[in-house]
Amino acid sequence: MISIANNLTQVRTAIANACQGAHRPADKVQLLAVSKTRNSAQLLELYRAGQTHFGENYLQEALDKIAALSQYPLIWHFIGPIQSNKTRAIAENFSWVHSVDRLKIARRLAEQRPAHLPPLNICIQVNISVEANKAGCCIEQTADLISQIAELPNLKLRGLMAIPKATKEPLEQQQAFAALAGLLSQCQQQHPSLDTLSMGMSADIVPAIEQGATIVRVGTALFGPRSYPNTPS
Ligand SMILES: *Cc1c(COP(=O)(O)O)cnc(C)c1O
Repeated sequence: MISIANNLTQVRTAIANACQGAHRPADKVQLLAVSKTRNSAQLLELYRAGQTHFGENYLQEALDKIAALSQYPLIWHFIGPIQSNKTRAIAENFSWVHSVDRLKIARRLAEQRPAHLPPLNICIQVNISVEANKAGCCIEQTADLISQIAELPNLKLRGLMAIPKATKEPLEQQQAFAALAGLLSQCQQQHPSLDTLSMGMSADIVPAIEQGATIVRVGTALFGPRSYPNTPS
């Protein structure tokens, strides 16, 4: 049986090789372990192998694990769809949110972020493949949304996140990641402190890193196949 620790070594090697191939320093790409549907014991195994950043999609499931693992210095990222009534618990329990796609949600997170915690790191999720009914801000509105969110207290706006349409076509993968990278550079003209491109999952970390990803979100390659279906939205 392949262990989670072995998987971590392999994923790290894949990231390092992709960085080398792209002539990028390896420490510019952070691995986010996507742990939705995995239990606390599996997360702990990965933590003991050296992983500290964990991404969760479903709030209640995440809160259970955050409580169970509270004695460990894990860093929690929320990466799933956000309903307004969930913002308080997200603001109170996470360090990062990758899936902000509208001002209302950002305002609530800003209001509800406890004063004793550092600012909440925020990425705007962009519907980069222009899919109907998909989460994410539309490309044309991203710059405005960034400017509005940049004004809010208690948040630290970091950059952009996307889940491009699933495809095995290398050119399409490359174009979607390049589009998100291009959008970030546009936004950086007004907001030079933006430094994060959250893109690339198990199947496409290499093209994502080639196009400038600074965070790759990896689940299956670390933990194995998920035992019940849950497509990212
Ligand atoms: C599930 C998920 C991932 C990880 O997908 P894998 O294919 O298992 O690596 C990454 N990002 C988001 C937003 C997800 O929901």
